Amino acid sequence: MANHLFDLFRSRMPGAERRFIETPDGRVVTYGEMVAQTARIANVLLQRGVVPGDRVAAQVEKSPEAISLYLACVRAGAVFLPLNPAYTLAEMAYFIEDSEPRLVVASPERAADLETPGATIETLGAAGDGSLIEAAAGAAAVCEDLERGPDDLAAILYTSGTTGRSKGAMLTHDNLASNALALAAAWRFSADDALLHALPIFHTHGLFVATNVTLVSGASMLFLPRFDADEVMRLMPRATVMMGVPTFYVRLLQHPGLNTWSTSHMRLFVSGSAPLLAETHEAWFRRTGHRIVERYGMTETNMNSSNPYEGDRVAGTVGLPLPGVEIRITDAEGAVMPPGAVGMIEIRGPNVFKGYWRMPGKTAAEFRPDGFFISGDLGMFDDRGYLRIVGRGKDLVITGGYNVYPKEVESELDALPGVAESAVFGVPHPDFGEAVTAVVARKPGASLDETAVLKALEGRLAKYKLPKRVLFAETLPRNTMGKVQKNLLREAFAGLHGGD
Ligand code: AMP
Repeated sequence: MANHLFDLFRSRMPGAERRFIETPDGRVVTYGEMVAQTARIANVLLQRGVVPGDRVAAQVEKSPEAISLYLACVRAGAVFLPLNPAYTLAEMAYFIEDSEPRLVVASPERAADLETPGATIETLGAAGDGSLIEAAAGAAAVCEDLERGPDDLAAILYTSGTTGRSKGAMLTHDNLASNALALAAAWRFSADDALLHALPIFHTHGLFVATNVTLVSGASMLFLPRFDADEVMRLMPRATVMMGVPTFYVRLLQHPGLNTWSTSHMRLFVSGSAPLLAETHEAWFRRTGHRIVERYGMTETNMNSSNPYEGDRVAGTVGLPLPGVEIRITDAEGAVMPPGAVGMIEIRGPNVFKGYWRMPGKTAAEFRPDGFFISGDLGMFDDRGYLRIVGRGKDLVITGGYNVYPKEVESELDALPGVAESAVFGVPHPDFGEAVTAVVARKPGASLDETAVLKALEGRLAKYKLPKRVLFAETLPRNTMGKVQKNLLREAFAGLHGGD
């Protein structure tokens, strides 16, 4: 039967003995082993009653088996739903209730807490252990891939919602297939490439950009459990490409081993998910002789633009629209603006998602009648057609490559006894890019301090969402429309972490 995405991967596969994944301890998963293991897991999914269109939620640590689970879902026609292992149980309860998975795959430590009526639970540990893999060991190593067309769902990725409610971005087989092909061609991937993979795999960057581009090229991945500068430097002589968030590059620049020699085997460095400072781009060039290729994308759209492989890689820009992707800049009324003018970035193409899971109203509100998606990012084209991102209409804070939506943190703060109101925003931070920062106005007579607030938030929000600093004010600055003026707060506290 035709399975749009897996058929593509299969058609691009090198010989079965070729390396797909290698872990830092030297464990190798070949393409042949990947095909067999994903068939076994797909068979377990079928045995557990998963039918095409069912969601399979996974809150697991990064491992080659977690990649196999993703691919097994594709083959079984299921919708893969990866969730950040840092999410608390309270956060998980929302995702599970909203997505109604048929199967939940959890780390062994979490399994008991994630028992869900109507869903089967299996475990998968960081070492590739757990009930899912035990069951797979007894299942057949071949399976028939289930029928899935280009427009059928392959995955749902939750984005934190600006309104406090996370939205599930529905990604189709062709969203992922078309983007993988566009990126592999744009970045000249081949079966000779070895990708240094230190990104998390619950997010579009590490899961789709990195893994799918590898698969459609028949390339391999050096698969680190997490970013570690020493480990990255140790493995770099064997890699040809690295994809990273800007924080990786900032940290590697602090590593004494980074120089032209240690990067001489590399042909490409890619950065995305947050703005790469032009000074980081230049410092990297001076130290290594490589110009980082910055690209731009988001969960809902996959990747939209990239600096060119051949031609000028312009620091501070996210390059040119990828082939097949249309990008335009619009004003508040939706009229298209000329180069040089700042406005809303809108995107149309085969990469753009199908809509938000069970939120037809929100979906409709974020698409123009002619099919362009309103990204929420503000930007402009320069006169050479390079896109520059100037801000985020959606007020997102990006800290160490992770997205934090202020509203979600504010809701938790406002619920604390003694808090009258709060504002959460990002300020420059030398290591994280931006640091989550909160300003709180106390209720009259309340004696809350920073330590007490941070203690109260522990366990309620994933660690990366917790404010790095909590400051206090009599009242929050507001404009005549009653909106909190976060720009004033950002300016006032810009120097909090040594910035200017
Ligand atoms: P996510 O959905 O987690 O991938 O986050 C997407 C958001 O990250 C985009 O809407 C942008 O605001 C931001 N982003 C991604 N890549 C870049 C980049 N190269 N420069 C600036 N912002 C970026």
